Amino acid sequence: MQVSIDKNSGYCFGVEFAIKMAEDEMEQSDKLYCLGDIVHNSMEVTRLSEKGLVVIDHEQLSELHDCKVLIRAHGEPPETYKIAIENNIELIDASCPVVLKLQHRVKSAFDKMEREEGQIVIYGKKGHAEVIGLTGQTLEKAIVVMEDADLEKIDFSRPVTLFSQTTKSTKGFYEISQKIEDRIQAAKQEITRETFNTNDSICRQVSNREPQLQRFSQENDVILFVSGKKSSNGKALHQVCLAQNERSYFIENETEIDPDWFQKDEKVGICGATSTPMWLMEQVKSYVESLEEGVLSV
Ligand code: SF4
Repeated sequence: MQVSIDKNSGYCFGVEFAIKMAEDEMEQSDKLYCLGDIVHNSMEVTRLSEKGLVVIDHEQLSELHDCKVLIRAHGEPPETYKIAIENNIELIDASCPVVLKLQHRVKSAFDKMEREEGQIVIYGKKGHAEVIGLTGQTLEKAIVVMEDADLEKIDFSRPVTLFSQTTKSTKGFYEISQKIEDRIQAAKQEITRETFNTNDSICRQVSNREPQLQRFSQENDVILFVSGKKSSNGKALHQVCLAQNERSYFIENETEIDPDWFQKDEKVGICGATSTPMWLMEQVKSYVESLEEGVLSV
């Protein structure tokens, strides 16, 4: 078998930056709190916890005082910064610059919508850390949509400004944007920038991977897509692979591989999400290479 790793897969700069910050900090102290999983990849979370990274939730944050807490790439709502000041917590802020910029855009669009009696709509997953950081910019007034049923929460006779969680699929965003536009027109509103302002705020680190992954999926007989099950962009990018190659398997690590997936002399491609560490894809590659004669069907 020929086994290769997609050279465009692996950490985006936002995740790489957050992990580097955590590792640098832990070189100076043997314990560092992190608000939520640093990446949606349990293998990497385990590796870092062995170095001293302690994952906490927001409830635990409220009880901590006089310590250091890392904010991961997903960003946080204003409330978190307020608690940190009150509790004398030093924040090691590894929020991705792309997410921070989006938070600012959502905040200023929200101020404008408040003046114009409009609504902020975010295409994303309710409860996702980044989405919580974004709705926090709008006093929790933003409407989060992911499926058609969620559109019922929007008043189409009032102005709408739409953004996307940075890690959603481009296809999904444009489909929902079109549906909102159709519903605004059905409510007898003309489509102008004032009635509907749609902003494709999907991170290019995710959307640029789509055409590259499409090519990679076509070039290989079998695709092993390595990602944490909680990763949003992992789910979105796996769908991109599946659309091109129906033998695209979503795995968290090599223990989930079934040798029956492969035939001799096939090309196997390994790729992953923006939160998938390269060391894990290398580990999967070594495992597949070890599945030699006698194990695979001829
Ligand atoms: S996917 Fe984009 S927005 Fe998200 S952490 Fe990576 S670089 Fe930042």
